Amino acid sequence: MDMLIGGKHISSEDLEDVVNPYNGEVIDTVPIAHRQTVDLAIAEANNAKESLCEMSAFKVSNKLFNVVEKLKANREDFAGLLTSEVGKPINESLVEMDRSIETLKLAAEEAKRIYGESVPLDAGLNGKGFFAFTQRLPLGVVAAITPFNYPLNLTIHKIAPAIACKNMVIVKPPTEAPLTVMKFCELLNEEFPDGVVNTVTGYGSEVGDHLVTSPDINKISFTGSITTGMMISQKAGMKKVTLELGGNDPMIVFADADIDKAVKGVINGAFLNAGQVCMGVKRIIADNEIAEEFAEKLVLETEKLVMGDPSDSKTTLGTLISEKAAMQVEETVNNAVSDGAKILTGGTRDGAFYEATVIDNVTPEMDLVINETFGPVAPIIRVNDVDEAIKVANETDYGLQAGVFTNDYALAMRCAQEIEAGTVFVNKQSTFRTDNMPFGGFKSSGVGKEGIKYAVEEMTKTKLIGLNLR
Ligand code: NAD
Repeated sequence: MDMLIGGKHISSEDLEDVVNPYNGEVIDTVPIAHRQTVDLAIAEANNAKESLCEMSAFKVSNKLFNVVEKLKANREDFAGLLTSEVGKPINESLVEMDRSIETLKLAAEEAKRIYGESVPLDAGLNGKGFFAFTQRLPLGVVAAITPFNYPLNLTIHKIAPAIACKNMVIVKPPTEAPLTVMKFCELLNEEFPDGVVNTVTGYGSEVGDHLVTSPDINKISFTGSITTGMMISQKAGMKKVTLELGGNDPMIVFADADIDKAVKGVINGAFLNAGQVCMGVKRIIADNEIAEEFAEKLVLETEKLVMGDPSDSKTTLGTLISEKAAMQVEETVNNAVSDGAKILTGGTRDGAFYEATVIDNVTPEMDLVINETFGPVAPIIRVNDVDEAIKVANETDYGLQAGVFTNDYALAMRCAQEIEAGTVFVNKQSTFRTDNMPFGGFKSSGVGKEGIKYAVEEMTKTKLIGLNLR
């Protein structure tokens, strides 16, 4: 599939295969772009500025709603493509499609709500006699750089608010899974002037890096790993930057918790998308009093998962993004076992598949829980009391989301206040998000927020206009 630049389809002499991680088949190829192609995309995006800014908010909103309808009409086709490029079960791809449609719809609505406010300058010294107000203006060209795990919805979280507030966009989709995003950009291009949305494929180290360092890009909106995010923040200079990075989310299960609910939380939180979720449950912190019962029930439910062909609707556990990724998870789990952890179920790899794995007797010093393990692994760390639980929850560089299971609301509130994370859910695992909520981590998990309204704030600049009426 070709790139889309200034409304034209552009290829390259060098091509990269897009491979189905389940069966190793090449689904398609995409161009490996180089720096000159990125410069062309930047020029085309800038050329589109006038025609986009001339559009009324009413028109931008209507056009986004038209794309919503097109996406709905293509829901099943897009879901099939997502499953073949990511290896996620088809039912999860359909959920990603529904969320993508919802995210786009939220942006179509938000396009009509780009408000400024009146500012009482007379509340300040010498401000009497002014009438002043602010406007929120587009930044210009937004570069959207996105990861493989939820390629479509996470990219729409950038493109849609960017266009809603009249920015042009250059999308660098994930190298492993670029196709759904590229197809979506084609739908957008049918509605908006050429150059409003552009795609550049290739390697992050060249294409991504050039977007990050180019002086003609006004905003970097990045979702991906901490390593890449840190590099971007060092190189971006004066550009506005939003970084949605990795997570190592804790889930605390207290002695009074509804154990069945907590077990369900782990099944939905640690094994969704084969554990490749930024806000996945990555550390279960269980009170010793119930840890045994909790672990037994968790093993029973884990063993009900169906690992297999992701395109089969009965499958609940697909592949990881590649065999290499599965081997990394295998190595991390094996190291934890060598250090004293105990596998209760799972622990075996087959190509790009890694079994849903419950692992007990994990200690906070193990790599398995210090770094983000991006695979279907549920590590249990046993603790003795509330203080220890909160301490362990915070013993990480990450701070994306967290879940606390208890029926004691005073305890829940204490945890909510003391856990250092962008979101704390009570009686719900961290692996939950509605697409309108402010989403973004503390500590090394990121900078800035997404969730359409919040993304619009990050993709606009405020101008104050003051009329001296005296
Ligand atoms: P990654 O950082 O390897 O890649 C993300 C994107 O950055 C890709 O498009 C890649 O090509 C590009 N890139 C790579 N090097 C670059 C460079 N030097 N300059 C510019 N761009 C570059 O991440 P990944 O492996 O695709 O995704 C998994 C990670 O993403 C996990 O850590 C996960 O937690 C995180 N993630 C975070 C969120 C969130 O919202 N916080 C959501 C999903 C995934």
